Amino acid sequence: MSQKSQPELFNDAFLVQRLSALGLRGVRRVESHQNRAVMVSVTPRGVLRIHRGYAYAPDSVLAAIVTFVKPGTRLQRRRAAQAVILAFPVDAFAPPQRARRRRKPSARPEDLPLLRQLTAMHKQFNGQFFDGQLSRISLRISRRMRRRLGELMLDANDAPVEIAISSRHVARDGWHEVEQTMLHEMIHQWQAESGRPVDHGAIFRKKAREVGVTPRAMRDVGHTSSTS
Ligand SMILES: [Zn+2]
Repeated sequence: MSQKSQPELFNDAFLVQRLSALGLRGVRRVESHQNRAVMVSVTPRGVLRIHRGYAYAPDSVLAAIVTFVKPGTRLQRRRAAQAVILAFPVDAFAPPQRARRRRKPSARPEDLPLLRQLTAMHKQFNGQFFDGQLSRISLRISRRMRRRLGELMLDANDAPVEIAISSRHVARDGWHEVEQTMLHEMIHQWQAESGRPVDHGAIFRKKAREVGVTPRAMRDVGHTSSTS
């Protein structure tokens, strides 16, 4: 992550200066961050980790930080300081950054031909049954799915991120069945992308009839929410 992307106004050294002037001791270094999980903490090695938004806080809030991290501060004072710290609206000054996407494990080389076929299948069905309206989606061969044949992964905002197809399913059930599974998951993708609930309700069944998904493909197919 480039430091240059941070606002010029913020300066860790300046924050250290202000905290030191307010009596901060025993901290060797300050590391600022922009996630709300832990607003202020001190590592055993004397690194103060602090939300970047506090660079914009008044001295009363910084004084509370000094009290909070000072060794030996009694519980009650510490709690009072914590309340002052948490009352400061850090997000107004340093908005949360988007979570960095976890890097996707790259596909196994032996899966690549199959993935290319599945990608072509997705593209073909998209044009054939969904007016080409579905977005291109990442596809994955899963060796971990035992009961399920396929799966649509959604992110925290219910946006589709990936369709997984069971490797077992491909090896065991033949290409026609894999097509049925792909269509099933694509109907879920269509549900999600058009703001409909992702389920097997009446709309799913109607769409399934339209695209020719046979009832057999309805068994053992799952979909989950995931932030990965
Ligand atoms: Zn389903």
